[in-house]
Amino acid sequence: MSIIIKTKKEIEILRKGGRRLAEVLYKLKEKVAPGVSTKELDTYAEKLIREMGDIPAFLNYRPEGANKPYPASLCISVNDEVVHGIPSKRRILKEGDIVSLDLGLRHKNLFTDMAITVPVGNTNTSNLKLIQITEQALQVGIDAAMAGNTVGDIGHVIESFIRPHKYGIVEVLAGHGVGRAVHEDPHIPNFGKKGKGAKLVPGMVIALEPMINLGTKNVTIDDDGYTFRTADGKHSAHFEHTILITEGEPEVLTKI
Ligand code: MG
Repeated sequence: MSIIIKTKKEIEILRKGGRRLAEVLYKLKEKVAPGVSTKELDTYAEKLIREMGDIPAFLNYRPEGANKPYPASLCISVNDEVVHGIPSKRRILKEGDIVSLDLGLRHKNLFTDMAITVPVGNTNTSNLKLIQITEQALQVGIDAAMAGNTVGDIGHVIESFIRPHKYGIVEVLAGHGVGRAVHEDPHIPNFGKKGKGAKLVPGMVIALEPMINLGTKNVTIDDDGYTFRTADGKHSAHFEHTILITEGEPEVLTKI
């Protein structure tokens, strides 16, 4: 596979899809509360997406290496779960949890991808700081997503931003190209070296998604084949935007 430069028409569609995706995710955020099951959030996400005539991108999606398709619309990862948590009726959110909501939307056959991490009710200051720093790390990455820079430049700025906080940067998962498929080239790690890797070119659409842990960077995967969690059981946060590389400032497509 190689990097796909999107056409003007495709960019228009991705812009609209991205806006719709952000709207859905912010509606989901308002539903996050103690006593809510992760399945309820998933059902609501699917309903909102289908009402607009779009398709949940992750439902039945089969990532490379997976032996069964993903069974839900939304990935919901609570506390020490890093990403790809599968919604369940039995998983009830509790006051003080932190929950990552990761959602993909297919609008007119083109894909956008976004994630946020939110506290359930009140949570402790270490969780709040983790959430805040992870969101800032995403912004730092976006700021570096200028034409002429490279994938390594993005990873480098995220890594440099996180390092003083002594958090773990998940290395086995990464950002990625997106648009005609849920995952496209290039692979965009949240660490890297200046000037290394693929060059960013106007018309590229990429999803940046730092996954940051309070403790170790190491993760394990559950028997369900999807849920990544921290190896030390400490909490993790995740933010993601789909962005367009332009001649000037990067454009966040997943915004209202
Ligand atoms: Mg993604």
